[in-house]
Amino acid sequence: MSDVVVARSLDEAQGALADHPGATVLAGGTDLMVEINRGLRRPSHVVGVAQVPELRQWSIADDRVIVGGGVTYTEMMTTPLADAAPALAQAARTVGSPPIRNAGTLGGNLGTASPAGDTLPVLAALNAKIVVVGPDGERRMALDDFVVGVKRTSLRPGELIVRAEMDRPAGRQEFLKIGPRNAMVISMAGLALVADHDARAVRCALGAVAAGIPRARVAEAWVAERIDWDNGAGVDDEVAAEFGQRVAAASSPIDDHRSTAAYRRHAVAVLATRALKRAFTEEGAADA
Ligand SMILES: Cc1cc2nc3c(=O)[nH]c(=O)nc-3n(C[C@H](O)[C@H](O)[C@H](O)COP(=O)(O)OP(=O)(O)OC[C@H]3O[C@@H](n4cnc5c(N)ncnc54)[C@H](O)[C@@H]3O)c2cc1C
Repeated sequence: MSDVVVARSLDEAQGALADHPGATVLAGGTDLMVEINRGLRRPSHVVGVAQVPELRQWSIADDRVIVGGGVTYTEMMTTPLADAAPALAQAARTVGSPPIRNAGTLGGNLGTASPAGDTLPVLAALNAKIVVVGPDGERRMALDDFVVGVKRTSLRPGELIVRAEMDRPAGRQEFLKIGPRNAMVISMAGLALVADHDARAVRCALGAVAAGIPRARVAEAWVAERIDWDNGAGVDDEVAAEFGQRVAAASSPIDDHRSTAAYRRHAVAVLATRALKRAFTEEGAADA
């Protein structure tokens, strides 16, 4: 039987974690309760954070969007947040079912740190900084430094994920994923692509095709030089197809019960080509 504290403020949550630094944080429970029910975890102390108002906050500025760790998928799908971070909203729409989206949170997706976590490629493509607080004060880190392996994070005992701070670039954002059917699926491959017209840059990150969440940096730099930024930022079909192959080269998928490595690599190429066309051509926008 676990000892459970339901925190009603960030101070209370931090206090409960300071008393029991090995305690397990519970947000929406859509990952944690599955693990407990399967007997994979037996936490002795649990700190519930679903009622911590500070974690439920989000804000939008001209150049960035801040989303609290306790913000749910349903909230990410709702305007004005959905308009300010469209790829995050697209990813949120693909998660589970309405009850899962009502309960599941950004902090929980980060805390689980599955390579198939759908918000993670979006955060990587938006250059997100993950902000955590704990006994050592506040730490702010890039996603690469937060997710350090399959379901492994750099969170220290007693730390809470407070928020993610992401860029808000001028340009289209896309999130695409492939699974065995259209709803209630964990990604076999996922991809986020962001067009940044001010920086004349394309940023592209991959989910479910590596141990972490790789950015396709070589492909990003290659394609940025081939986009007609001055004249409506068009991209031709051959460039889009070649970009797809180059993005696939940044993946390192495995064969598992969900898919084969070969299919995943092919899927990444298709998703990258499609996302680039959607982001940079009128025709692509019409298909979206
Ligand atoms: C039927 C079903 C379908 C699903 N479909 C998808 C899907 O399509 N895509 C997808 O990405 N995921 C999916 N999931 C997984 C899950 O819904 C998400 O990972 C969700 O974001 C978890 O959030 P939560 O708030 O429920 O986390 P919880 O289950 O409460 O916690 C998950 C982990 O994060 C830690 N944690 C939570 N919040 C914090 C915090 N603020 N600080 C520190 N640690 C924290 C917990 O200790 C725990 O280790 C699905 C799950 C189910 C059951």
